Amino acid sequence: MSARILVVDDIEANVRLLEAKLTAEYYEVLTASDGPTALAMAAAERPDIVLLDVMMPGMDGFQVCRRLKDDPETRHVPVVLVTALDGRADRVAGLEAGADDFLTKPIDDVMLFARVRSLTRLKAVIDELREREASGRRMGVIAGAASRLGGSGGRILIVDDNARQAQRVCSELAIEHRPVIESDPEKAMLTAKGPVDLVLVNACAKAFDGLRFAAHVRSDETTRGLPILAVVDPDERQRIVKALEIGVNDILARPIDPGELAARARTQIRRKRYTDYLRTNLDHSLELAVTDQLTGLHNRRYMQGQLEALMLRAGVGGEPVATLVIDIDHFKRINDSFGHDVGDEVLREFAVRLASNVRAVDLPVRHGGEEFVVVMPDTSLDDARRIAERIRLHVAGSPFRVMGGDELLSVTISIGVAASFGPEDSAQALLKRADEAVYEAKSRGRNRVIARAA
Ligand code: GH3
Ligand code: MG
Ligand code: MG
Repeated sequence: MSARILVVDDIEANVRLLEAKLTAEYYEVLTASDGPTALAMAAAERPDIVLLDVMMPGMDGFQVCRRLKDDPETRHVPVVLVTALDGRADRVAGLEAGADDFLTKPIDDVMLFARVRSLTRLKAVIDELREREASGRRMGVIAGAASRLGGSGGRILIVDDNARQAQRVCSELAIEHRPVIESDPEKAMLTAKGPVDLVLVNACAKAFDGLRFAAHVRSDETTRGLPILAVVDPDERQRIVKALEIGVNDILARPIDPGELAARARTQIRRKRYTDYLRTNLDHSLELAVTDQLTGLHNRRYMQGQLEALMLRAGVGGEPVATLVIDIDHFKRINDSFGHDVGDEVLREFAVRLASNVRAVDLPVRHGGEEFVVVMPDTSLDDARRIAERIRLHVAGSPFRVMGGDELLSVTISIGVAASFGPEDSAQALLKRADEAVYEAKSRGRNRVIARAA
């Protein structure tokens, strides 16, 4: 997976070195030599990752990072801060500024590409979610905007067989989170399936293989979205690389620095809440996009896709598809006499009667206003007409109770029926025939079923 990477450093030689390394691995590289230029480029060029030197004259890396994270347009772009070798204090300050990761100078190639790969994957996931959220917003189905999500109060699962280390980490985290310790990986896996925001695993555990546990969390359906923070020995480079390959989100070097622990935990939890938020909004927007809010039936948009798929199948020798177009008679009179709310009640009651009078494979839809459609797979014109007649009788035969049962309304419907006839037929033509049939039913006096042969 390739990516656009913005490299920011005030020393020309450093920029050139990173540029050469990244270009050799087919990444697209943009460069800037000071903070203000970096901010302008991040806004204009939309890089996938920013590699940011901490020490720069004027605006330093922390300031640039904070500005990027404050701007809703660039907040989701991963920032990797490049710090001095012994820059523990820098790392804590960087995490506070919202940095996603660190590299220490001189930059180790293995670590550089491991980090870049893992952040590129993360960015791709977030981009896809953001894209879908944005299209949901364009369709007008998402109300709120992303609020600033905090990173405290998280439920953290500590998986460690080293009781002293686990206890120390636990009491540090308990200052702002709700941590629990589990020393047995099987029990830990069960806990991870519950409400957990972050898994912190000791990759150097004696009694179990911490990386195997991480891989298990990553591959299980119910836990694969959980962020994982792995505790490693800083000189075990192979293990660090392996951990990142497995999909561990972040690394914490031993001995564990409390400030760094707190900052990294907060970053991971905040990020998980952001992706959870995007996912929830997405599910909600998908549901809103395909259902009718008044009746709970599917809407026209949803029907269109389903009908087209069925027509394709019918066109290549499958069973015929039938449709009913149903229009409530003199519905305007109900609104005019009893008010719009009573009209709505009638629409809801009708939807219930309709849905309970068709088969489970049939698709009842509110097509708009007081017009409904039923799509019926594997149904001939004759069968469809019989079903339509049954629905008509069910509506005309017993009055609708409205206004909490105070009023009984008699309601009738007109139904047009059509069925597909072969490869030359289309969804549009099928609906048109059913539409013409319902028009004929109206002009012949309403409360009747008319079937239109092809
Ligand atoms: P016909 O028998 O010819 O179908 O007459 P009609 O009065 O049912 O048809 P017309 O198309 O003239 O009027 C439909 C009415 O349905 C007009 C519109 O205000 C009303 N309507 C559309 N959507 C809704 C809705 O969601 N709720 C309510 N209460 N009324 C609606
Ligand atoms: Mg009508
Ligand atoms: Mg109408």
